[in-house]
Amino acid sequence: MLTEIAAGDAVALCRSSQLFARGQKVFPAGVTRATIDREPHPIYVARGEGAYLVDVDEARLLDLNNNFTTLLHGHGFKPVVEAVCELLAAGTCFSNPTRYEIALAELLTSRIPAIERIRFVNTGTEAVMFAIKAARAFTGRSAIARFAGAYHGAYDWAEAGQNGFDIRLDGSRNARLGYRGAPSEIANDVLVLDFNDADGLDDTIAAHASRIAAILIDPMPSRAGLLEPQPVFIERIMDVANRHGILIIADEVLNLRQSYAGASARYRLKPDFVVAGKIIGGGFPIGAIGGNAEVMSVFGGDPSSPVVSQGGTFSANPVSMVAGLKAMEAATPAVFDRLERQGDWLRAELSAVARKHGAAFSVTGAASLLRIHPRATPPTTYAEAAPTPPDIAAMRSLSRHFREKGILLPHDAAACLSTPMGDDELEHVVATFEQFLVD
Ligand code: PMP
Repeated sequence: MLTEIAAGDAVALCRSSQLFARGQKVFPAGVTRATIDREPHPIYVARGEGAYLVDVDEARLLDLNNNFTTLLHGHGFKPVVEAVCELLAAGTCFSNPTRYEIALAELLTSRIPAIERIRFVNTGTEAVMFAIKAARAFTGRSAIARFAGAYHGAYDWAEAGQNGFDIRLDGSRNARLGYRGAPSEIANDVLVLDFNDADGLDDTIAAHASRIAAILIDPMPSRAGLLEPQPVFIERIMDVANRHGILIIADEVLNLRQSYAGASARYRLKPDFVVAGKIIGGGFPIGAIGGNAEVMSVFGGDPSSPVVSQGGTFSANPVSMVAGLKAMEAATPAVFDRLERQGDWLRAELSAVARKHGAAFSVTGAASLLRIHPRATPPTTYAEAAPTPPDIAAMRSLSRHFREKGILLPHDAAACLSTPMGDDELEHVVATFEQFLVD
């Protein structure tokens, strides 16, 4: 399956398809991440330049993916590049702590109300895993409650329910496990609830309360549709958790980019743990588990035998710490305000264009995040947002059109803005969308 591009009179294979042919000989499915778009082949990147990336065929694309929302400042952000270059010669990892981890921790604890203490790891997956372990250790309970369709990384207990649930003979829900052969016991300890269903939440939690350690919630789950959380739902989560001694884990790996203080603060959720990742690493691998001093104490205790042992060869490596520090220092309240205004404008314009042309498209999202849906009204539940095969085809075709016009638009995940984007870029996005609807 090699794409051919015309090169003058001759026909040449594009470099990306050539690379894909090589990749297929060494990687299952030809790539190293399931999330790589392969329609008809991945776009191999040569370099990033601010809001843009340049692929190996010298095509320049406005990057609305930003490595799955990681790069708040786009590619090659100078303060990060300079600090990391300086650090490379001084050493990239040690078995000892460095001052950079304290600086990044101080920044995050001063901004995010729910974080008094923090631990760094290397990925969001790892951070969610440790938050779940910590909640279990703190409560002495093993089950977790989570919302259908939300993505929380690849830890078995976080993955179960990501693709929804099946109904058991007794009418209860059985979390769909991540892969064939996963221990079926996992489903007994993962309760799958519906996002924005306050009453359903109450009933299910009450029936299992004594064995639930935590409610795991992404305040605006992106894979589930980038759904706006209803205030009554958020209040009910806190009320139910409080009533039953259940902890709340806010997975803000993606949504921390919603504001200077993160997403929980924005939606008035008061979690016990906040899980972070992506933007706080400035483009380098990172994850973090934060929370109030009491719950975070499970990572301490007797130093030779903490209640929950959390290590990691590369945890808090100085490169990620310094890059994260530089990226986050530059993410001032004014920067978040500007991104938010741009996001509001873009979402409103895209929605207006769809209305103008009577097209069944709607837009969800907040701050610098957005997701286009092939339906006339924005989804409020996962059931409404879950794409049907025709929806998937429609979004793929939209994404293909965007790519032809020089824009990288994720077709099944959140798109996002970065600080180097200006009016020209945003207007280009709206014009490209309109062109798609007209053609
Ligand atoms: N939680 C959420 C909400 C995420 O969006 C992601 C990554 N997309 C993860 C967890 C896992 O993070 P990572 O890919 O760094 O393991």
